[in-house]
Amino acid sequence: MATTNTDYLLAIEDLTVSFDGFKAVDAVNLYVDQGELRVIIGPNGAGKTTILDLICGKTKSTEGSIKFKNQELTNMREHQIVRAGVGRKFQTPSIYENLTVLENLEISYPWGRTVFGSLKFKRDEKVQARIDKVAEQIYLTDQLDMEAEFLSHGQKQWLEIGMLLVQEPELILLDEPVAGMSFKEREATAALLKEIVKERSVIIIEHDMEFVARIANRVTVLHMGKILADGTMEEIQSNEKVKEVYLGH
Ligand code: ADP
Ligand code: MG
Repeated sequence: MATTNTDYLLAIEDLTVSFDGFKAVDAVNLYVDQGELRVIIGPNGAGKTTILDLICGKTKSTEGSIKFKNQELTNMREHQIVRAGVGRKFQTPSIYENLTVLENLEISYPWGRTVFGSLKFKRDEKVQARIDKVAEQIYLTDQLDMEAEFLSHGQKQWLEIGMLLVQEPELILLDEPVAGMSFKEREATAALLKEIVKERSVIIIEHDMEFVARIANRVTVLHMGKILADGTMEEIQSNEKVKEVYLGH
């Protein structure tokens, strides 16, 4: 069944990873459409981060299939998966603190990689235009010349999202991007995500249910490595099993 072609941007089937016999992800099926913003929720240790690790190739699956635009990702290396169009943001920001916002965006540009270490390369107009657009999207136009270490926590998270956006991935994976953000920053992030999904798909792990309600198309609830429920926010909130294991406490 995993060999047939699919119209989904991402089709995950029977995905399992076992760490010394412990199944952190256990026979998961997950389908994401083009232009969809999918939220994954679930208690700590449910396997949420591990699913993103499997998609981006950081962790190798024990069983199952991950198809991105009908390309099997489970056999590919991390950099190949990035090149195929999957961008991943980790829980803690991994920006270059001593570089400016502009420089952080520049070195993330796919053609800029070769000049890493010598940042004085001639910026062509195309690169400049994309960086300007991204800077505006992530609310950092006025901070372009500021060293990243002086940004607020929320701005650092946005910068890292921006560093993904300059690569124009078709699928973006975000692991708890609003953790530690102020209310205002959360609101701005919700608006940013709604902009992003106009052009690409997003899978986001999130705990804050108010935030989830604001952004989600569909919500997938993970529990002990398995999918407990999958549906609209309303369906999830009225699901008895979900209330019991997750929303109840
Ligand atoms: P979540 O993100 O939902 O909180 P994780 O995906 O980080 O959960 O972890 C799921 C489970 O898998 C946890 O019990 C965690 O300890 C375990 N786990 C994750 N990665 C590894 C690994 N590389 N080796 C062993 N166990 C792991
Ligand atoms: Mg996690």
